[in-house]
Amino acid sequence: MIKVENLIYEYPRKLALDNISFTIPKGSITALVGANGAGKTTLLKCLAALIAPFSGKILVNDIDVLKSPRACQHMMGFLPDFFGLYDTLTIEQSLSYFALARKVDANKIPIRVKEVVNLLNLNEKIHEKIGNLSRGMRQRVGIGQAMIHDPSLLLLDEPAAGLDPEARIALKDLFLELNRQGKTLVVSSHILAELDQYASDLLILKDGKIVEHNVSLKGEQNIEKNICIELLEPPENILEIISSINGILSPKIQGNTIIFKFDGNVIEQNLLLKKLIDLNLNLIQFYVKVEGVQEQYIQTISGNTLHV
Ligand code: ATP
Repeated sequence: MIKVENLIYEYPRKLALDNISFTIPKGSITALVGANGAGKTTLLKCLAALIAPFSGKILVNDIDVLKSPRACQHMMGFLPDFFGLYDTLTIEQSLSYFALARKVDANKIPIRVKEVVNLLNLNEKIHEKIGNLSRGMRQRVGIGQAMIHDPSLLLLDEPAAGLDPEARIALKDLFLELNRQGKTLVVSSHILAELDQYASDLLILKDGKIVEHNVSLKGEQNIEKNICIELLEPPENILEIISSINGILSPKIQGNTIIFKFDGNVIEQNLLLKKLIDLNLNLIQFYVKVEGVQEQYIQTISGNTLHV
């Protein structure tokens, strides 16, 4: 869906994107993460053909964004981090206006507006003035404005910023529904703990460079499971003992706790627990620790200040 090659963007005194290249597959939801100032907004604006890079190439659906910005913008919707809404218009009026501006066929506008309002779960508020809506609803109206022309690609800059947990769940469900409808999404976010509930790909930026790009890690596979066992007093050769057990991979020791990956299903996990008890290791705890995008991010970027 997106192919970026050697992209460089410079502000007068800041190299914001430092020669980055990546591809984003069709039908994916890519979480774009990085600390403040990493270059996320700049990258999204370049992809949306709103600012022109110093050099490099961006293709969206094989169309060159720099050569044909209008054609690309037709295929994409962009929600900026700070977007404007017309508070005195109703949701219906505002979406109809944006549909007209986005050259949706005038006859089809009422149907399209209803479709979008339905998708955004704003049916009951369709005749409500936008100025009277909650923050979560306003955010959804913003997304509605960005997607009124039915683009196949959605670029969303911090869509969950300032939303309460309930509104964030509604937003996550919306992303998954849009994705089910075949749309590709790029979502920048600081709320790492929730990314693995919807993201299939992770693109991490640091100081304008890509430090990690995990392609097509969907749902469960995003989550890494480690088994932790805590012992009263681990013997000196504990790692040797643990490593010799079938299915145990990369054991590490942290204080009195041994952490390892285990290649087995729940039945094998149960057998493993029995085996550990039989070994008389003075086991105090046995638990599964699930690591998601947040931990992957922290491991990748370790040493960097994180703003969650
Ligand atoms: P945040 O998470 O805070 O939104 P970001 O990852 O989106 O940050 P950008 O807004 O893309 O980062 O900024 C990248 C770098 O470029 C930062 O160092 C920022 O200070 C700088 N920058 C952004 N806009 C401008 C500008 N108009 N003029 C000069 N420098 C800028």
